[in-house]
Amino acid sequence: MDQRYRPSNLLLQWHLSDACNLRCTHCYQESFEAQEPGLEHWLQLLDDYLDFLGGDRQAPRIPGHINVTGGEPFALRDFPALLDTFARHRKSLSFGILSNGTLIYRAMARQLRHWNPSFVQISLDGIPATHDRIRGEGSHAKAVAGIRALCAEGVRVLISFTAQPDNYQEFPAVARLGHELGVHKVWSDRVIPPSGPGATALMLTPAQTEEYLLLMAQARAALPAKSTTQIPLHRALQFLEGGDSIYRCTAGESLITVMPDGTLYPCRRLPIPVGNVYQHRLHELYYGAPLQDIRTPRQYEGCEQCGFAQRCQGGLRCLSWAATGRLDQADPGCTLAQPGTAGKAWVPIKAV
Ligand code: SF4
Ligand code: SF4
Repeated sequence: MDQRYRPSNLLLQWHLSDACNLRCTHCYQESFEAQEPGLEHWLQLLDDYLDFLGGDRQAPRIPGHINVTGGEPFALRDFPALLDTFARHRKSLSFGILSNGTLIYRAMARQLRHWNPSFVQISLDGIPATHDRIRGEGSHAKAVAGIRALCAEGVRVLISFTAQPDNYQEFPAVARLGHELGVHKVWSDRVIPPSGPGATALMLTPAQTEEYLLLMAQARAALPAKSTTQIPLHRALQFLEGGDSIYRCTAGESLITVMPDGTLYPCRRLPIPVGNVYQHRLHELYYGAPLQDIRTPRQYEGCEQCGFAQRCQGGLRCLSWAATGRLDQADPGCTLAQPGTAGKAWVPIKAV
C-alpha cells in the first residue's frame, strides 16, 4: 500500500439506491430495484469517509465533498434523514445533490434551503420533446417545475445536459432556458455508453464532438452580459473551443464513487470495481492495488504528438474504456487524436 499519496481533496459520488421513478434511455443502471443497505450503513460509510479525510497535527484535513444521488434520491424514504446528518457535518464537508428534479415540490425546496447543499443538480437533456423521449412523458415539465421551486427558495441549481448523437444540437436551447430560469450553471458532458461491442454507435463522432464543443462556446457567448448563469466549458476537450482550464481525469485520485451495494468505482462513468465499502475500510480500498494502478501515469496512444498531452492526458478516459476496454487510448471524440491529424494546431475560438 502506497500511503504516501495524499489527495488534495476527495469528492465522493455516492449512489444511494437504484430506485428511480424514471427509466431514461441512456441510464447506466441495469436494475431499478431498491436494494439500498439503509440509513444505518449509510451513516457508517459517512463516518468512514470523514475518518479518511482525517485532520490532525501531522496532516491537515483533506477537503471533502459528497455528491449524493440515486437512482433518484428524492424517491428514498431515508434521504431526508441523511441530508439532516450532512447538514450537521456542514463544517467538515460540503455536499451536492444530483436528481432528475421531478419529485422536488415547493415544500421540499423550502426544506432544502434549510439543509443548505452547495447545489442541487437537475438533468435536462434537450427541448421538451427530446427530454421526454429520453426520460419519459411529462418529465421535462416536472423537472422545470422542480428547478423553479428551488430557484424560488434561493437554492443554487445546476442544470446538467448529457450530450448524445440525437440531442447535442439542443444544448443552446437548454442553456437559454437555464438563463431564463436563473440557474447558477448549465454544464454538459458527453454520454458514456456501456462498454462493449456497439458502444461506439452511441457516442458522438469526432466531427459531432467538434460541433458540440462549438455550440457550447456559442451558447456561452450568446448569454446576455448581465446573465447570472454560467456555462462552464471545463469538461474533457471543452477547453479546445472555450478556452477554460484543461480538464484531466482524476478518477481514483480526487474522485471515487460508491454504488448502492457498496461497490467502489474510481468514477461512475469508469465502472472498474475496486472493492466494497461495506466490507473494507475506505482507507484500505483507496490505497489498494486497483486504484493505485488507475492513478499510475500513462502514455496515451494517439496523443503522442499533441501539445496538450501533458495536461489533458487522454481526455475522457471513461469513453476510451467504453469503446476499447483500455485506459491508455486517446479520447475517441478528439479530432486531434485522429490518424493523420494528430498534432494539428487547434485554434481556440476567442469570440463567437
Ligand atoms: S490528442 Fe489526446 S491529449 Fe490531445 S487533446 Fe486529444 S485527447 Fe487530449
Ligand atoms: S474522464 Fe471519465 S472517468 Fe475520468 S473523471 Fe471524468 S467522467 Fe470520470
